[in-house]
Amino acid sequence: MTQTERWLLQGATVVTGDPDFEDLPCGDILIEDGRITAMGRELRVEGCRVLPLAGKLVMPGLIDTHRHTWQTPLRALGGDWTVLDYLAAVRVKLSPVFLPEDVHAGTLAGALEALDAGITTLVDYSHCITSPAHADAALQGLQDAGIQALFAYGHAQGPSPSPAFPTPEHRFADARRLREGPLASDSGRVRLGIALSEMQVPWEQSRAELLSARELGVPITLHCSAWPVTGPSEVEQLGRDGLLGPDLLFVHCTFSGDEDLARIADSGGSISATPESELQMGMGFPVVGRALRAGVRTTLGCDVVASNGGELFTAMRLALQSERGRANALAGLPRRLDLKAGRMLRMVTQDAADAIGLGAVTGSLRPGKWADLVVLSADALNMTPLGRPRDAVVMQAHAGNVESVMVRGQLVKHQGVLLGTDVAAVRRKVLRARDAVLERVGGLSALLADQAALQEHWNLGDGLADDAG
Ligand SMILES: [Zn+2]
Repeated sequence: MTQTERWLLQGATVVTGDPDFEDLPCGDILIEDGRITAMGRELRVEGCRVLPLAGKLVMPGLIDTHRHTWQTPLRALGGDWTVLDYLAAVRVKLSPVFLPEDVHAGTLAGALEALDAGITTLVDYSHCITSPAHADAALQGLQDAGIQALFAYGHAQGPSPSPAFPTPEHRFADARRLREGPLASDSGRVRLGIALSEMQVPWEQSRAELLSARELGVPITLHCSAWPVTGPSEVEQLGRDGLLGPDLLFVHCTFSGDEDLARIADSGGSISATPESELQMGMGFPVVGRALRAGVRTTLGCDVVASNGGELFTAMRLALQSERGRANALAGLPRRLDLKAGRMLRMVTQDAADAIGLGAVTGSLRPGKWADLVVLSADALNMTPLGRPRDAVVMQAHAGNVESVMVRGQLVKHQGVLLGTDVAAVRRKVLRARDAVLERVGGLSALLADQAALQEHWNLGDGLADDAG
């Protein structure tokens, strides 16, 4: 399958997700050289491959703005973890024992899982980079999967510096190696980004990380205010140093005050909320409603498949209904619902594309953009009758409805099957990685070490105060 192919998608319900192009109850989409070149009713075009889509729904590919894809081998180990459990198990114990091949297996399997669920673009917050070989392995996993991605090179180190990176500057040099080599282009399917260390490091180091990322000219993402910390917030410190900007994607912000949200909005930055992991792990209440009211570009991510699901239909509904539940509980008997179902779709499409600088080329269906799109089985029982198509995508669809997926006009999933992928081989790789890393830490039962040790590595504010008392 090459990008020179011309495709005509025919007769689908088209949800464009684009303010300038109305949804079509029965529309065609022409794709040439990977891009959408025409949309409309009954397009007459010769010499292209026709995909008849009567009964189906075509929509923009989904965009996950926060996932630690390398953690895929840890799937479903942490269904009952709090954030302290997660930090103790994953960041302190497991991350140091991941070898490059484990990072590759996790990233490949996780990116394929995302594609399978209609996610055509992923922000991979890749913070298990303990050597240049780990970075290469993670990047290779994204490239092998065929997904479009921002490979956010993580500067976070494990509980102690790895021998390959004795100082932060060694990490900066390694990110620069990728920027000057395989990720020099900003139009490639996988682009470079930088993921900053969390507040377990002194602010001066975070600042140096940010400045080195700005020198590379790439999008920057950072975990932010996911629990109450002592001292000023990340947003406050960035603002104080004049470092806020539209290239920043803040993750969580559940404990961000309204002043911080206003600062992010003013600077043109964005937020990634990950409602499922936030609600589970005790990372505060999802910021979605407050962020939208503050005028912040707000997007959604899956975060951690060690604990929760890896697809965005659930994330949309959790974000929507948790916010409605909060507002309704205050209202008593509400007269109306302020947050509309259809609004959620923008968070996982156009707004997410804008958040990582890709808004002009993906995020909606319109001529000139990449054909990054999803075909949903709108004729399935759970979507029949279709009702209001945009609402049906948010309120009714699930990942099992994702029938076909295109990334830049290339069909990567067709009629339920991932193309060009040996799924059995990928499963074997990820199972091998799971067994290997668990064996290296002494088995499942050894994962939750004494959490008091966390205090040495993270600024947890008063998070452990009760235990200490
Ligand atoms: Zn995260």
